[in-house]
Amino acid sequence: MGKKTYQIAVLKGDGIGIEVTDEALKVLRALEQKGGPACAFAEYPSGAGCYLEQGTPLPPATVEACRRADAVLLGAMGLPQVRWPDGTEMRPQVDLRIQLDLYAGVRPAYLYAAHHTPLKGRQAGDIDLVILRENVEGLFASLNAGIELRGEVAVDSMVITRSGTERLVRYAFELARQRGKARPKVTCVDKANIFKSMAFFRRLYDEVAAGYPEVAREYAYVDAMALYLVRQPEAYDVLVMENMFGDILSDLAAGLVGGLGMAPSADIGDEAAVFQPVHGTAPDIAGQGNANPVGAMLSAGLMLRWLGLRHGDENARAGGERIEAAVRQVLAPEGTGTPDIGGTMNTTELGDAIVAHLA
Ligand code: ATP
Repeated sequence: MGKKTYQIAVLKGDGIGIEVTDEALKVLRALEQKGGPACAFAEYPSGAGCYLEQGTPLPPATVEACRRADAVLLGAMGLPQVRWPDGTEMRPQVDLRIQLDLYAGVRPAYLYAAHHTPLKGRQAGDIDLVILRENVEGLFASLNAGIELRGEVAVDSMVITRSGTERLVRYAFELARQRGKARPKVTCVDKANIFKSMAFFRRLYDEVAAGYPEVAREYAYVDAMALYLVRQPEAYDVLVMENMFGDILSDLAAGLVGGLGMAPSADIGDEAAVFQPVHGTAPDIAGQGNANPVGAMLSAGLMLRWLGLRHGDENARAGGERIEAAVRQVLAPEGTGTPDIGGTMNTTELGDAIVAHLA
Protein backbone atom coordinates (compact mmCIF):
# COMPACT_ATOMS: atom_id res chain seq x y z
CA MET A 1 0.00 0.00 0.00
CA GLY A 2 1.30 3.49 -0.85
CA LYS A 3 2.07 6.04 1.77
CA LYS A 4 -0.94 8.05 3.00
CA THR A 5 -1.20 11.62 1.75
CA TYR A 6 -2.73 13.87 4.40
CA GLN A 7 -5.23 16.43 3.13
CA ILE A 8 -4.41 19.73 4.82
CA ALA A 9 -6.74 22.74 4.66
CA VAL A 10 -4.71 25.94 4.80
CA LEU A 11 -6.25 29.18 6.14
CA LYS A 12 -3.55 31.83 5.98
CA GLY A 13 -5.79 34.68 7.13
CA ASP A 14 -4.38 38.21 7.37
CA GLY A 15 -1.26 40.21 8.23
CA ILE A 16 1.71 38.15 9.34
CA GLY A 17 -0.57 35.09 9.34
CA ILE A 18 0.13 34.85 5.62
CA GLU A 19 3.89 35.37 6.00
CA VAL A 20 4.42 32.77 8.73
CA THR A 21 2.11 30.17 7.16
CA ASP A 22 4.25 30.26 4.02
CA GLU A 23 7.24 29.22 6.16
CA ALA A 24 5.22 26.44 7.84
CA LEU A 25 4.28 25.10 4.39
CA LYS A 26 7.92 25.35 3.32
CA VAL A 27 9.11 23.17 6.19
CA LEU A 28 6.36 20.58 5.60
CA ARG A 29 7.23 20.36 1.90
CA ALA A 30 10.94 20.04 2.65
CA LEU A 31 10.25 17.32 5.18
CA GLU A 32 8.31 15.35 2.59
CA GLN A 33 11.29 15.65 0.21
CA LYS A 34 13.45 14.21 2.97
CA GLY A 35 11.30 11.12 3.53
CA GLY A 36 8.75 12.68 5.85
CA PRO A 37 4.97 12.32 5.62
CA ALA A 38 3.18 13.39 2.43
CA CYS A 39 0.73 16.29 2.62
CA ALA A 40 -1.53 17.85 -0.02
CA PHE A 41 -2.36 21.46 0.73
CA ALA A 42 -5.54 23.28 -0.30
CA GLU A 43 -5.94 26.94 0.54
CA TYR A 44 -9.31 28.43 1.58
CA PRO A 45 -10.37 32.05 2.03
CA SER A 46 -10.70 33.37 5.59
CA GLY A 47 -10.14 36.44 7.72
CA ALA A 48 -10.61 40.18 7.36
CA GLY A 49 -9.45 40.22 3.73
CA CYS A 50 -12.04 37.57 2.93
CA TYR A 51 -14.71 39.66 4.68
CA LEU A 52 -13.89 42.61 2.43
CA GLU A 53 -14.23 40.42 -0.67
CA GLN A 54 -17.07 38.08 0.28
CA GLY A 55 -18.88 39.77 3.18
CA THR A 56 -17.89 37.04 5.66
CA PRO A 57 -14.56 36.27 7.37
CA LEU A 58 -15.39 32.56 7.53
CA PRO A 59 -17.39 31.31 4.53
CA PRO A 60 -19.40 28.11 5.14
CA ALA A 61 -17.42 26.43 2.33
CA THR A 62 -14.21 27.09 4.27
CA VAL A 63 -15.64 25.54 7.44
CA GLU A 64 -16.85 22.53 5.42
CA ALA A 65 -13.39 22.08 3.90
CA CYS A 66 -11.87 22.20 7.41
CA ARG A 67 -14.30 19.50 8.51
CA ARG A 68 -13.36 17.25 5.58
CA ALA A 69 -9.59 17.75 5.80
CA ASP A 70 -7.30 15.53 7.87
CA ALA A 71 -6.06 18.67 9.65
CA VAL A 72 -6.16 22.46 9.36
CA LEU A 73 -3.18 24.80 9.32
CA LEU A 74 -4.11 28.37 10.21
CA GLY A 75 -2.08 31.60 10.22
CA ALA A 76 -3.81 34.45 12.03
CA MET A 77 -6.97 36.43 11.36
CA GLY A 78 -8.34 39.92 11.77
CA LEU A 79 -7.25 43.49 11.07
CA PRO A 80 -7.93 46.39 13.45
CA GLN A 81 -9.62 48.58 10.84
CA VAL A 82 -11.89 45.82 9.53
CA ARG A 83 -14.87 45.40 11.86
CA TRP A 84 -18.48 44.32 11.84
CA PRO A 85 -20.91 47.14 11.04
CA ASP A 86 -21.65 47.51 14.79
CA GLY A 87 -17.95 48.21 15.41
CA THR A 88 -17.06 44.90 17.11
CA GLU A 89 -13.96 42.95 16.13
CA MET A 90 -14.27 39.78 14.08
CA ARG A 91 -12.84 36.57 15.51
CA PRO A 92 -13.28 33.94 12.81
CA GLN A 93 -10.60 31.75 14.38
CA VAL A 94 -12.65 31.57 17.59
CA ASP A 95 -15.86 30.92 15.61
CA LEU A 96 -14.09 28.06 13.82
CA ARG A 97 -13.17 26.48 17.17
CA ILE A 98 -16.78 26.57 18.22
CA GLN A 99 -18.18 25.33 14.91
CA LEU A 100 -15.77 22.38 14.82
CA ASP A 101 -16.12 21.78 18.59
CA LEU A 102 -12.36 21.98 19.18
CA TYR A 103 -12.60 21.76 22.95
CA ALA A 104 -8.95 21.14 23.82
CA GLY A 105 -6.66 24.16 23.46
CA VAL A 106 -3.11 22.79 23.64
CA ARG A 107 -0.53 25.52 24.34
CA PRO A 108 2.96 24.10 24.88
CA ALA A 109 5.69 26.27 26.38
CA TYR A 110 9.14 24.83 25.72
CA LEU A 111 12.38 26.74 26.20
CA TYR A 112 14.41 26.30 23.00
CA ALA A 113 17.38 28.45 24.04
CA ALA A 114 18.51 29.81 27.41
CA HIS A 115 18.71 33.39 26.13
CA HIS A 116 15.02 33.41 25.12
CA THR A 117 13.74 33.47 28.70
CA PRO A 118 13.70 36.53 30.95
CA LEU A 119 14.25 34.16 33.91
CA LYS A 120 17.70 33.63 35.39
CA GLY A 121 19.60 30.37 35.28
CA ARG A 122 17.40 28.34 32.95
CA GLN A 123 18.85 26.17 30.20
CA ALA A 124 17.21 24.96 26.98
CA GLY A 125 14.65 22.29 27.83
CA ASP A 126 14.29 23.36 31.48
CA ILE A 127 10.84 24.76 30.78
CA ASP A 128 8.65 22.10 29.19
CA LEU A 129 4.98 22.38 30.07
CA VAL A 130 1.61 22.45 28.36
CA ILE A 131 -1.26 24.75 29.22
CA LEU A 132 -4.46 22.92 28.32
CA ARG A 133 -7.18 25.46 27.90
CA GLU A 134 -10.87 24.63 27.61
CA ASN A 135 -11.80 26.18 24.30
CA VAL A 136 -15.57 26.37 23.82
CA GLU A 137 -17.22 27.22 27.15
CA GLY A 138 -16.05 28.76 30.47
CA LEU A 139 -16.08 32.55 30.49
CA PHE A 140 -16.09 32.57 26.67
CA ALA A 141 -19.46 30.81 26.60
CA SER A 142 -21.15 34.19 26.48
CA LEU A 143 -19.20 35.22 23.40
CA ASN A 144 -21.58 37.41 21.38
CA ALA A 145 -24.28 36.69 23.99
CA GLY A 146 -23.37 38.66 27.11
CA ILE A 147 -26.00 41.15 28.28
CA GLU A 148 -25.95 44.81 29.01
CA LEU A 149 -28.99 46.40 30.69
CA ARG A 150 -29.93 50.06 30.36
CA GLY A 151 -26.32 51.16 30.37
CA GLU A 152 -26.28 50.11 34.05
CA VAL A 153 -25.37 46.45 34.28
CA ALA A 154 -23.36 44.09 32.10
CA VAL A 155 -23.09 40.34 32.63
CA ASP A 156 -20.96 37.59 31.10
CA SER A 157 -21.44 34.18 32.68
CA MET A 158 -18.92 31.45 33.49
CA VAL A 159 -20.35 28.23 32.06
CA ILE A 160 -18.85 24.92 33.17
CA THR A 161 -20.55 21.73 31.98
CA ARG A 162 -19.99 18.18 33.14
CA SER A 163 -19.44 16.75 29.65
CA GLY A 164 -17.25 19.69 28.56
CA THR A 165 -15.03 19.39 31.63
CA GLU A 166 -14.81 15.62 31.66
CA ARG A 167 -13.60 15.42 28.08
CA LEU A 168 -11.05 18.18 28.67
CA VAL A 169 -9.65 16.63 31.84
CA ARG A 170 -9.51 13.23 30.16
CA TYR A 171 -7.53 14.86 27.36
CA ALA A 172 -5.17 16.35 29.96
CA PHE A 173 -4.43 12.99 31.57
CA GLU A 174 -4.00 11.25 28.20
CA LEU A 175 -1.61 14.01 27.18
CA ALA A 176 0.43 13.62 30.38
CA ARG A 177 0.65 9.89 29.68
CA GLN A 178 1.78 10.49 26.09
CA ARG A 179 4.37 13.09 27.05
CA GLY A 180 5.95 10.42 29.23
CA LYS A 181 7.81 12.62 31.71
CA ALA A 182 9.56 10.69 34.50
CA ARG A 183 6.80 11.82 36.90
CA PRO A 184 3.78 12.77 34.79
CA LYS A 185 1.50 15.29 36.46
CA VAL A 186 -1.71 17.18 35.70
CA THR A 187 -2.24 20.39 37.67
CA CYS A 188 -5.82 21.57 38.07
CA VAL A 189 -5.81 25.39 37.89
CA ASP A 190 -9.01 26.98 39.20
CA LYS A 191 -10.52 29.29 41.77
CA ALA A 192 -12.36 26.61 43.70
CA ASN A 193 -12.15 28.53 46.97
CA ILE A 194 -14.44 31.27 45.66
CA PHE A 195 -16.65 30.14 42.78
CA LYS A 196 -19.25 27.35 42.61
CA SER A 197 -18.38 26.83 38.94
CA MET A 198 -14.73 26.30 39.83
CA ALA A 199 -15.44 23.96 42.75
CA PHE A 200 -17.50 21.93 40.26
CA PHE A 201 -14.59 21.97 37.79
CA ARG A 202 -12.26 20.63 40.50
CA ARG A 203 -14.73 17.91 41.53
CA LEU A 204 -14.96 16.70 37.92
CA TYR A 205 -11.16 16.81 37.66
CA ASP A 206 -11.00 14.48 40.69
CA GLU A 207 -13.53 12.09 39.21
CA VAL A 208 -11.59 11.76 35.95
CA ALA A 209 -8.18 11.67 37.71
CA ALA A 210 -9.26 8.55 39.60
CA GLY A 211 -8.92 6.65 36.31
CA TYR A 212 -5.24 7.63 35.96
CA PRO A 213 -3.52 6.48 39.16
CA GLU A 214 -0.04 6.65 37.53
CA VAL A 215 -0.35 10.40 36.84
CA ALA A 216 0.19 12.74 39.80
CA ARG A 217 -2.56 15.18 40.79
CA GLU A 218 -2.00 18.73 41.93
CA TYR A 219 -4.20 21.79 42.54
CA ALA A 220 -3.48 25.51 42.34
CA TYR A 221 -5.54 28.67 42.37
CA VAL A 222 -5.13 30.64 39.18
CA ASP A 223 -3.73 33.77 40.85
CA ALA A 224 -1.10 31.72 42.67
CA MET A 225 -0.31 29.91 39.43
CA ALA A 226 0.64 33.21 37.76
CA LEU A 227 3.29 33.53 40.46
CA TYR A 228 4.43 29.89 40.39
CA LEU A 229 4.86 29.94 36.62
CA VAL A 230 7.31 32.82 36.92
CA ARG A 231 9.09 31.38 39.98
CA GLN A 232 9.38 27.70 39.07
CA PRO A 233 8.04 26.84 35.61
CA GLU A 234 10.17 23.68 35.58
CA ALA A 235 7.87 22.17 38.22
CA TYR A 236 4.98 21.67 35.76
CA ASP A 237 3.93 19.17 33.13
CA VAL A 238 0.28 19.57 32.01
CA LEU A 239 -1.92 22.32 33.48
CA VAL A 240 -5.65 22.12 32.84
CA MET A 241 -8.06 25.06 33.22
CA GLU A 242 -11.15 26.85 31.97
CA ASN A 243 -11.08 29.04 28.87
CA MET A 244 -10.28 32.54 30.16
CA PHE A 245 -7.70 31.37 32.70
CA GLY A 246 -6.00 29.49 29.88
CA ASP A 247 -6.15 32.51 27.62
CA ILE A 248 -4.25 34.57 30.17
CA LEU A 249 -1.77 32.01 31.47
CA SER A 250 -0.82 30.77 28.00
CA ASP A 251 0.38 34.27 27.08
CA LEU A 252 2.33 34.39 30.33
CA ALA A 253 3.87 30.99 29.53
CA ALA A 254 4.77 32.19 26.01
CA GLY A 255 6.55 35.14 27.63
CA LEU A 256 8.73 32.70 29.57
CA VAL A 257 10.06 31.01 26.43
CA GLY A 258 10.67 33.82 23.95
CA GLY A 259 7.35 35.54 23.40
CA LEU A 260 4.39 35.24 21.07
CA GLY A 261 6.46 34.58 17.95
CA MET A 262 7.79 31.34 19.45
CA ALA A 263 4.54 29.83 20.71
CA PRO A 264 2.65 27.11 18.80
CA SER A 265 -0.84 25.85 19.52
CA ALA A 266 -3.28 23.11 18.64
CA ASP A 267 -7.07 23.26 18.97
CA ILE A 268 -8.32 19.73 19.06
CA GLY A 269 -11.72 18.10 18.89
CA ASP A 270 -12.86 14.52 18.40
CA GLU A 271 -13.41 14.99 14.66
CA ALA A 272 -11.13 17.87 13.61
CA ALA A 273 -8.07 19.84 14.65
CA VAL A 274 -6.61 23.27 13.85
CA PHE A 275 -2.94 24.16 14.30
CA GLN A 276 -1.85 27.78 14.51
CA PRO A 277 0.71 30.05 16.17
CA VAL A 278 -0.54 31.72 19.36
CA HIS A 279 0.09 35.21 18.01
CA GLY A 280 -2.33 37.37 16.06
CA THR A 281 -1.87 39.25 12.81
CA ALA A 282 0.56 41.82 14.32
CA PRO A 283 -0.43 44.74 12.04
CA ASP A 284 2.53 46.77 13.39
CA ILE A 285 5.07 44.49 11.68
CA ALA A 286 3.00 42.98 8.83
CA GLY A 287 4.54 43.40 5.40
CA GLN A 288 8.03 44.10 6.75
CA GLY A 289 9.18 40.52 6.33
CA ASN A 290 10.58 40.14 9.84
CA ALA A 291 7.84 38.22 11.65
CA ASN A 292 9.08 35.21 13.58
CA PRO A 293 7.87 32.08 11.73
CA VAL A 294 8.85 29.64 14.50
CA GLY A 295 5.45 29.54 16.25
CA ALA A 296 3.83 28.65 12.92
CA MET A 297 6.52 26.08 12.03
CA LEU A 298 6.22 24.43 15.46
CA SER A 299 2.43 24.37 15.01
CA ALA A 300 3.02 22.41 11.80
CA GLY A 301 5.16 20.08 13.93
CA LEU A 302 2.32 19.64 16.43
CA MET A 303 0.06 18.82 13.50
CA LEU A 304 2.38 16.01 12.37
CA ARG A 305 2.63 14.62 15.91
CA TRP A 306 -1.17 14.60 16.16
CA LEU A 307 -1.64 13.02 12.72
CA GLY A 308 0.96 10.41 13.64
CA LEU A 309 -0.86 9.42 16.83
CA ARG A 310 -4.28 9.48 15.23
CA HIS A 311 -3.28 7.35 12.25
CA GLY A 312 -0.68 5.16 13.94
CA ASP A 313 1.91 6.70 11.59
CA GLU A 314 5.36 6.77 13.17
CA ASN A 315 6.86 8.67 10.23
CA ALA A 316 4.40 11.53 10.72
CA ARG A 317 4.94 11.62 14.47
CA ALA A 318 8.71 11.67 13.99
CA GLY A 319 8.26 14.50 11.46
CA GLY A 320 7.05 16.71 14.31
CA GLU A 321 10.16 15.87 16.31
CA ARG A 322 12.39 16.60 13.32
CA ILE A 323 10.97 20.10 13.00
CA GLU A 324 11.49 20.72 16.73
CA ALA A 325 15.07 19.43 16.57
CA ALA A 326 15.87 21.74 13.64
CA VAL A 327 14.45 24.74 15.53
CA ARG A 328 16.55 23.81 18.59
CA GLN A 329 19.74 23.64 16.53
CA VAL A 330 19.20 26.84 14.59
CA LEU A 331 18.24 28.95 17.60
CA ALA A 332 20.93 27.68 19.99
CA PRO A 333 23.52 30.39 19.26
CA GLU A 334 22.68 33.78 20.69
CA GLY A 335 21.90 36.34 17.98
CA THR A 336 20.21 33.95 15.55
CA GLY A 337 16.56 34.40 14.71
CA THR A 338 14.25 37.32 13.99
CA PRO A 339 14.42 40.65 15.88
CA ASP A 340 11.76 39.65 18.47
CA ILE A 341 14.17 37.02 19.86
CA GLY A 342 17.27 39.19 19.56
CA GLY A 343 18.38 38.17 16.07
CA THR A 344 18.86 39.95 12.76
CA MET A 345 17.35 37.42 10.35
CA ASN A 346 14.22 38.05 8.37
CA THR A 347 11.28 35.65 8.16
CA THR A 348 12.43 33.70 5.10
CA GLU A 349 16.07 33.53 6.23
CA LEU A 350 15.01 31.94 9.52
CA GLY A 351 12.60 29.61 7.70
CA ASP A 352 15.35 28.59 5.27
CA ALA A 353 17.83 27.95 8.10
CA ILE A 354 15.35 25.66 9.86
CA VAL A 355 14.65 23.81 6.61
CA ALA A 356 18.40 23.38 6.04
CA HIS A 357 18.78 21.78 9.48
CA LEU A 358 16.05 19.16 9.01
CA ALA A 359 17.62 15.79 9.63
P1 ATP B 1 -4.80 39.23 18.56
O1 ATP B 1 -5.77 40.11 19.28
O2 ATP B 1 -5.23 38.88 17.18
O3 ATP B 1 -4.32 38.06 19.35
P2 ATP B 1 -2.82 41.14 19.26
O4 ATP B 1 -2.97 42.49 18.67
O5 ATP B 1 -3.18 40.91 20.68
O6 ATP B 1 -3.53 40.09 18.32
P3 ATP B 1 -0.51 40.00 18.15
O7 ATP B 1 -0.91 40.34 16.79
O8 ATP B 1 -0.48 38.59 18.52
O9 ATP B 1 -1.37 40.74 19.20
O10 ATP B 1 0.89 40.60 18.48
C1 ATP B 1 1.21 41.48 19.52
C2 ATP B 1 2.59 42.03 19.20
O11 ATP B 1 3.58 41.03 19.38
C3 ATP B 1 2.67 42.40 17.75
O12 ATP B 1 2.19 43.68 17.56
C4 ATP B 1 4.12 42.20 17.42
O13 ATP B 1 4.86 43.34 17.72
C5 ATP B 1 4.51 41.06 18.33
N1 ATP B 1 4.44 39.77 17.60
C6 ATP B 1 3.41 38.92 17.55
N2 ATP B 1 3.71 37.86 16.78
C7 ATP B 1 4.95 38.04 16.33
C8 ATP B 1 5.82 37.28 15.47
N3 ATP B 1 5.46 36.12 14.91
N4 ATP B 1 7.04 37.79 15.23
C9 ATP B 1 7.43 38.95 15.77
N5 ATP B 1 6.68 39.69 16.58
C10 ATP B 1 5.44 39.26 16.86
